[in-house]
Amino acid sequence: MSADARPVGPAATREPVLSVRDLVVHFAGRRKTTVRAVDGVSFDIAPAEILALVGESGCGKSTIALSVMRLIEPTSGTILAGGEDLARLRGRRLRRARERVQMIFQDPFGSLNARRSVYDTVVEPLVIHGIASSKEERRQRVNEALELAHLTPPERLAQSYPHELSGGQRQRVAIASAMVLRPPLVVADEPVSMLDVSARAGILRLMMDLRDRLGTSYLFITHDLATAWVVADRIAVLYLGRVVEIGRSTDVVAAPAHPYTRALLEVSADEERLSTDEPVAVLPGEAPSAARVPPGCRFHPRCPRYVALGEPEACRVADPTLGPAPTAGEGHQVACHFPLGENP
Ligand code: SF4
Repeated sequence: MSADARPVGPAATREPVLSVRDLVVHFAGRRKTTVRAVDGVSFDIAPAEILALVGESGCGKSTIALSVMRLIEPTSGTILAGGEDLARLRGRRLRRARERVQMIFQDPFGSLNARRSVYDTVVEPLVIHGIASSKEERRQRVNEALELAHLTPPERLAQSYPHELSGGQRQRVAIASAMVLRPPLVVADEPVSMLDVSARAGILRLMMDLRDRLGTSYLFITHDLATAWVVADRIAVLYLGRVVEIGRSTDVVAAPAHPYTRALLEVSADEERLSTDEPVAVLPGEAPSAARVPPGCRFHPRCPRYVALGEPEACRVADPTLGPAPTAGEGHQVACHFPLGENP
């Protein structure tokens, strides 16, 4: 097993809900280039664990989420959930597997059909998967899901339409729709980034509450390390399709070992940016492109530590793999030849 494939953190000691190994997703790009959107990513998620995938736009985090949902085809690698490799399932077995993994999307305005009532939206997974045969049972399960999402009274909310709801309420409907099947794993792709600040806190609290009450695990996708720190047990930082740092949230945020993680932290500390949620350049230098992955350490053209250390050759020629971080925190790993917290 490669260093990248090593299970870390709580997931190493409990049977994982999701186990991703050496996931690769490559696309054909323009002018015969290969877009290496995901380039060998491994991680586990334990029961009732929230793992955040953090990185800039284009780092591969949403591609990983869509691969887990099998909304795009992985090039290679395995995605084990419930004893089956989701990357290889087809037809009926794939549909059955999808009962166990549900998704919440970024846009609560676009992800709901304006012409469908809340009831119609939340009942849909039960209908698709042929669960709850009687009308009364379906209504009961929809009401329970709405209550779980704190949409009360459920009977009244079920008759509402998206235009009658706030952004936060719409995202709660999306969560109710994901939870109606009581899946062990939910993939949440930037679920709060389009909400105002007050609604964000409520949605994050709700997700953590569902984790505590039902034991739901989450693969939580975000560009914002501060949000990840609030919600996640562990954080995996992605750069150009690779995990460059992974560990318990407290270790990654309190003692980042990778220069890119530190750069993300500095952006997250900018409260003005947090309130507007404008996309920002994390670091100066050319925006990263998965069609032009640099040789050696893929971060070296933008790495302030590379410059500070006098541009060592190792950074230009050798691709670093994950290894123990200097913090020695449980499962804290970093892919850097000269991690922060280590001399010089
Ligand atoms: Fe920077 Fe070198 Fe570490 Fe890459 S290996 S992050 S270039 S110091």
